Amino acid sequence: MVGPPAGPEPPFPLRLTGPVIAGFGRGSKELGIPTANIPVSGLSVGGCEDVESGVYYGWAGLGRTPPPPPPPPEEREGEIPPPAEPDKPAAAAAAPEEEEEDSDPRPAVYPMVMSIGWNPYYKNSVRSIEVHLLHSFPATFYGATLRLTILGFIRPEYDYVSKDSLIEDIRTDIDVARRCLEREPYGVFGKEPWLVEGL
Ligand code: ADP
Ligand code: MG
Repeated sequence: MVGPPAGPEPPFPLRLTGPVIAGFGRGSKELGIPTANIPVSGLSVGGCEDVESGVYYGWAGLGRTPPPPPPPPEEREGEIPPPAEPDKPAAAAAAPEEEEEDSDPRPAVYPMVMSIGWNPYYKNSVRSIEVHLLHSFPATFYGATLRLTILGFIRPEYDYVSKDSLIEDIRTDIDVARRCLEREPYGVFGKEPWLVEGL
C-alpha cells in the first residue's frame, strides 16, 4: 500500500453538541458503564439527522459543570444520594488532587464511544444519544456541555437477549475505540480547537 495512513472517511467526521441530560439511570446502575445522554436534537447540529443507529467512536470535549440547578421536583425513587462528608467542603472532596483555581479542571478532551439508537434491549420508544467517555470521573457532570467529533462506526445495534452479552460487546467497543483513536490520522482530531470552543 502507498500513501499516508487513511483517516476518517465520509460522512465522518460528524460533529454534534449538547448538554448532558438525565437519562434513564441505567448506564451506571445496571451495566456498570455510565453514559452521558444528550438530547437527540443535538443530531441536527451536525446535519446528521439520518445517521444509522449503532455504536460510534470519536473525541469528546467536556465543559465545566454549571452550578447545580435547584433540586428537581421529584427525585427519582430508589436513588442513593452521594455520602455526605461533613468534615470536607463538597468541591474539595470531589477532586482532591486538582490544583486549579476551582475543583473543576474541565474543559478537556477525552476519547469516547457512543451509541445512537433506539436501545432495542430496553424497548425504548425514543431515540437516544449516549456517550461513554474513556475516563474515570470523581463525580457526575449533568448540565455540562459535550462537544463530539464522531470519526467512525463500530457496529449496528443488536437486540440483546442477555445483559451479559450487551456488557461484553460494550467492553469490546471501548477497546476498538481506544485502538482506533490511537492512530495518528484519528488522533489529530482530538487536538482540534472546535472540541473545546466556548466551553
Ligand atoms: P443517566 O441514565 O442519567 O444517563 P448513567 O447511569 O448513564 O445515568 O450515568 C451517566 C452520568 O454519569 C453522566 O451524565 C455523567 O454525569 C456521569 N459520568 C461519570 N463518568 C462518566 C463517563 N466516564 N462517561 C459518561 N458519563 C459519566
Ligand atoms: Mg446514560
